[in-house]
Formats: sequence, C-alpha cells, structure tokens
Amino acid sequence: MTQDVILNKILLKIKSVDRGYKTECWEFQRTRGYAHIMVATKTISVHRYMFWQQYKKNEIDWINFDRKKTVCVCHKCDNSKCCNPEHLFAGSQQDNVQDAVNKNRQVIPIVRGEVHGLHKLTEEEVLEIYKMPGTSRDIATQFGVSHTAIVHIKTGETWAWLTGG
Ligand SMILES: [Zn+2]
Repeated sequence: MTQDVILNKILLKIKSVDRGYKTECWEFQRTRGYAHIMVATKTISVHRYMFWQQYKKNEIDWINFDRKKTVCVCHKCDNSKCCNPEHLFAGSQQDNVQDAVNKNRQVIPIVRGEVHGLHKLTEEEVLEIYKMPGTSRDIATQFGVSHTAIVHIKTGETWAWLTGG
C-alpha cells in the first residue's frame, strides 16, 4: 500500500470539530482506544502518521520514524483523537509527562531551544511570533501557548539567540 493510499484512508475517517483550539481538531472516528489503522499486518498510529507526513517526510521514511518510539508525538490540544498536524509536536516520553504537568498548572513555560523538555514551539513559530503584529494575548491564543511565553519571546527574555531580540 502506498503512502497516499494510507493518507486517504485516514482522511476519510476524519471529522473536523471545533474544540476551542485556534484551528479545528481533526478527530479520527473510532469508538475506543488510540486512533490507528491497520495496513497489511501493521498497525499505524494515525496521529504519528499525520505528523510524519506533514513535518518529517523529507527527512526520514515512515518505517524508520515509526521505529523510533523514543520520539513521541504529543498533542498541543489535549485531544487524543485529534490528528491535525498543527496540533501535534514531537517530544520525548519525558516531554509528554511534563506536558501533562504543565497543562494541569495552566502554565506553559518556554525555555531556550527546541530540545528542552518544556518547549512547545518550533523555531519557525518563534520567529513568526517575534515578527507578528497584534497583542500578545491574541498571538498566545493563536499559538496555544501562554501569554507570558509570547511576552518573553517579544522582549528577548527567551529565544533571543534565535530572534536577535
Ligand atoms: Zn486538536
């Protein structure tokens, strides 16, 4: 089965639902358990596949990406059924735990670098935020991070090495 066929199979079962996130969640229609599809004898995790398809396809093939279980694809939107690539980010298992802790505290601190456990934004997103007009609160809502995180990026308190701020 080719990758396009897998993608189509996934897309057929997706329903866009507004869960109050900046864009709609793409919920994979499945009654229980994790969203996955069977391809030949292999189980494909839908959100991992969608993440790979969007961001990693040119770097690594699916088989190898899938083998790296240490790379955990986490949800920014807290919706385990969601597979909108915009709502997904790569982290380690530790990030996943930290992410849950952060959400409980309602504080998502941003610290230097893409590899850090508490990080929620990609370098591209940070640069976009840095250049973006509008209020910090609006930008924060759009990116699904805390207001403080945006202020810190704008003032160069975090990510200054990247933004030159
Ligand atoms: Zn979502």
